Amino acid sequence: MSGDKIIIFDTTLRDGEQSPGASMNMQEKFRLAQQLVKLNVDVIEAGFPIASKGDFDCVKNIADHIRDVRVAGLCRCNKKDIDVAWDALKNGEDPRIHAFLATSDIHLKYKLKKTREQILELAVASIKHAAKYTSNIEFSAEDATRSDLDFVCKVFEAVIDAGATTVNFPDTTGYAMPDEHAAQIKYLMGKIPNIDKAILSVHCHNDLGLAVANSLAAVKAGARQVECTINGIGERAGNTAMEEFVMAVRTRADLMDVHTKVVTEQIHTASRLVSTITGMFVQPNKAIVGANAFLHESGVHQDGVLKERTTYEIINPSDIGLSKGNIVLGKHSGRHALK
Ligand SMILES: [Zn+2]
Repeated sequence: MSGDKIIIFDTTLRDGEQSPGASMNMQEKFRLAQQLVKLNVDVIEAGFPIASKGDFDCVKNIADHIRDVRVAGLCRCNKKDIDVAWDALKNGEDPRIHAFLATSDIHLKYKLKKTREQILELAVASIKHAAKYTSNIEFSAEDATRSDLDFVCKVFEAVIDAGATTVNFPDTTGYAMPDEHAAQIKYLMGKIPNIDKAILSVHCHNDLGLAVANSLAAVKAGARQVECTINGIGERAGNTAMEEFVMAVRTRADLMDVHTKVVTEQIHTASRLVSTITGMFVQPNKAIVGANAFLHESGVHQDGVLKERTTYEIINPSDIGLSKGNIVLGKHSGRHALK
């Protein structure tokens, strides 16, 4: 495998569950967590412990019983949230506290009604508090892509000094474009003096259909953790689809020069499980996991694939755990396929 490893932070159980109509019960979340371990993701974000008693119990159940993966819990930047998150997480294997605070002026002015100085203070105090429990701490600058970049740099530098070991730069509203997102990551890498002491992460939303493209661009620019969900479920138009990101990195290793530790043969099973549990089925033409993703209907394509699969397939279906045939007989099929 070439280049650096990209940390896959799966948030299907947290951001994914925020998809309208996708709520999951404790058993369903646990089953999905077991499948995420089979996929070999690096971090599972299991929920937002302070959000409800149910959410707390789900995170605790996963942290208590799931092994071979780091379990993360989300919290706002205040002591109570952090204490409750740690209480849910503490029995996990190297559990991660994930604290977030908005940095954009629009969120500061209308949502938080705080000044930049107050935000900086609150972020540092919260990370220092979390550091009493663990050194596995992630800080997210909510709405980072619409924030003043120099302010984000200042906050990231301060929280790394306070003990954050991952700093996440979320495109909370799905507003960024790939070249812009890459430039933002490059700017942070060049400007934050202690960035070598933390992993720079991205968390993209798909409002403009660019979550996967933005994540790939960010990785090329130096990001080393990608937050994503199975089938791309999540708030509004969803998050970076893990299967698309992982298979793009693998298929275009020649351009990406990074790798993930995901066991891709488990992708199809994971996708089906998420669809079944949430009732959110992927559209047939969805990349990688759609029902038609590996089907060839036109006679010319079928003839090619039967002679040599790679004429029209850039991914071997078995790489994502599919074993069935890839030819469908339709009105565009030819004699060769019929035979
Ligand atoms: Zn999100």
